Amino acid sequence: MPELPEVETVKRTLSQLVVGKTIGNVTVHLRRIIQRPEEPLEFSMMLQGETIRSVERRGKFLRFLMDNYTMVSHLRMEGRYGVYDSKDPLETHTHVVFHFTDGSELRYKDVRQFGTMHLFPLGQELEEQPLKKLGLEPLDDAFTLDAFKSKLAGRSTKIKPLLLNQEYIVGLGNIYVDESLFLAGIHPEREAGSLSRQELASLYEAILSTLNDAVAAGGSSVKSYVNGQGEIGLFQHQLKVYGHKGEPCPVCGAHIEKSVVAGRGTHVCPNCQPLKKQRSRKA
Ligand SMILES: [Zn+2]
Repeated sequence: MPELPEVETVKRTLSQLVVGKTIGNVTVHLRRIIQRPEEPLEFSMMLQGETIRSVERRGKFLRFLMDNYTMVSHLRMEGRYGVYDSKDPLETHTHVVFHFTDGSELRYKDVRQFGTMHLFPLGQELEEQPLKKLGLEPLDDAFTLDAFKSKLAGRSTKIKPLLLNQEYIVGLGNIYVDESLFLAGIHPEREAGSLSRQELASLYEAILSTLNDAVAAGGSSVKSYVNGQGEIGLFQHQLKVYGHKGEPCPVCGAHIEKSVVAGRGTHVCPNCQPLKKQRSRKA
């Protein structure tokens, strides 16, 4: 599933490709992608004549801001956007086509069919699901060390599921949580509330550097992720533990282990990320 860096990359690419274009019509080939309004025909009618003014991101969601409406789009497992000429043959698994008045088209492809689109009156999208309850945006100025600490303070939940929970912090998924916890030297099963000030500061820095480096590399291409222009991200070559089960830890050389935490495959260096805090050696 694309995480924050991948969605950010898609956002940046799409911004260059579709901003300023006016929608003439929309064809919906698979109605379940359209979650709001209920009728795909209504979705299509509402978008006629709308010009895309900007493409933004909130967590793992894309927001297409237009004159009167905002379209909120989630790629889920394998959703992809591409810009084509209207004469280009339609590829299989193309579920929604936005026909622009200049003869180009924005096409949404999704082999797994889990992606969603919601249309709201402009600005209203932030007050309603699916965006309403989303937590801190880690690449925003509001994501300070104090704000991060207050989200975790006193929580008895394990740190990994807490970081995955989009109501606390948005955009982090399995890959970037594993990488951030490794960088900070924190075991994914530690209780969030048990982290020391030093550990919280390390984790905060680790999340920022992991996400910023991944955005700079255009995201990771772990499965079939492709950005809006059909290019693949390169950050997978910088992943230190994710996908490296059995290989030596780049820091200490111990074998990286994979287990299941909170139902998700989890990669850990048993040496760099001890589960129990080191006990004082004083008897
Ligand atoms: Zn290690």
